[in-house]
Amino acid sequence: MTGMPELVAIFNGLGGAASLLVGWTALYASVNISLFSALVIVMSLFIGSVTLSGSLVAFGKLSGKISSGKITFLGQKFVNLLIVAILLGAGCMLIMEPSTNNSWFWIILGGSLLFGIMLVLPIGGADMPVIISMLNAFSGLAACTAGLILDNNLLIVSGSLVGASGVILTNIMCKAMNRTLISVLLSGFNAAKTIQGSQTQGEVKSTTAQDAYYILEAAQRVVIIPGYGMAVSQAQHAVKELKDKLEENNCEVFFAIHPVAGRMPGHMNVLLAEANIPYEQLVEMDEINPQMSSMDVALVIGAIDVVNPSANSNPDSPLYGMPVINVTEARTVFILKRSMNKGFSDVDNPLFYNENSRMLFGDGKDSLSALANEFSD
Ligand code: NAP
Repeated sequence: MTGMPELVAIFNGLGGAASLLVGWTALYASVNISLFSALVIVMSLFIGSVTLSGSLVAFGKLSGKISSGKITFLGQKFVNLLIVAILLGAGCMLIMEPSTNNSWFWIILGGSLLFGIMLVLPIGGADMPVIISMLNAFSGLAACTAGLILDNNLLIVSGSLVGASGVILTNIMCKAMNRTLISVLLSGFNAAKTIQGSQTQGEVKSTTAQDAYYILEAAQRVVIIPGYGMAVSQAQHAVKELKDKLEENNCEVFFAIHPVAGRMPGHMNVLLAEANIPYEQLVEMDEINPQMSSMDVALVIGAIDVVNPSANSNPDSPLYGMPVINVTEARTVFILKRSMNKGFSDVDNPLFYNENSRMLFGDGKDSLSALANEFSD
């Protein structure tokens, strides 16, 4: 499950590569290409190449092979504008002279591959879900153009469906981040101006499974907030075990699901479904936040960015404006993670230093099993 997002990124890239090859072959093998066919071929080359190289960069960012943050350099905006201008010019020339035997073809190919890299490099941190779903939409569009070239209705329809659902998902992800697509795409270009959230300081209070048990045992309402760490430690079955123990103890249990928790849309829902946690107990962020002050305990399992209070309160934080699950309003917050490491977006989290926060250090699955065992003893 932890490798799935990277796999999805590679799949998107392969979809792009396939339509790039279809466009290339059509250009190589056909004679007397009509204006419409030439236009579709150029689009297939462009969208396919951007999807391929962009997805490879996204794969690198998700797997940690390249920095997950925004990668920017001086003059990036100008370089991008230049690439777009060259691509537009070369595209028009190739439409008029459709052949692989001219330099326009190679300029389109190289320029589009470069543009895909330049598009994804400056996007990072918490904005990644948006670019992943956008590449997903691109792969659908790429398949659609390949379908038009091959005159294959099935490919046109399935490509359009993937493209449309990718656009809808991109919109959902943008709403989840409280951003517009344009602001996500352009945010990296102003990254140099972005001030990192000021270094948070204060006392961190750690706890043990036994001490946490005494509070959980007395709790009437508990909200569990799963994040990427739950996927890494494969703790979903241990979560279910603890949930059952809490319910046997007459406690009401909720699961608060943030739309960008984990590393792919629906990541947490899939893991919790695998552990047979009833769907009705999964509550969306907008629904759980107003109830947060009535929670005795918020149990945060490997979730960091999606519960970062600086997104609400610190205008200097790169996460500022992103809706988060307001766990600080719960009476006690237990944070299960292995260390003081930051989350995917590499932003400080003041939650660790909050008066009502307690850190339960260790692997998520081990900590949850230890808590469940306390109920059995
Ligand atoms: P997160 O902010 O990335 O934090 C995950 C935390 O899990 C880490 O700080 C890590 O801390 C902890 N962890 C790792 N292994 C663990 C283990 N074995 N046991 C316990 N804890 C463990 O996660 P999140 O709150 O779910 O936020 C998701 C982030 O990913 C957001 O920034 C989002 O924008 C981004 N993203 C989401 C998607 C998507 O579609 N959902 C796609 C791409 C990117 P330790 O190392 O200290 O244990």
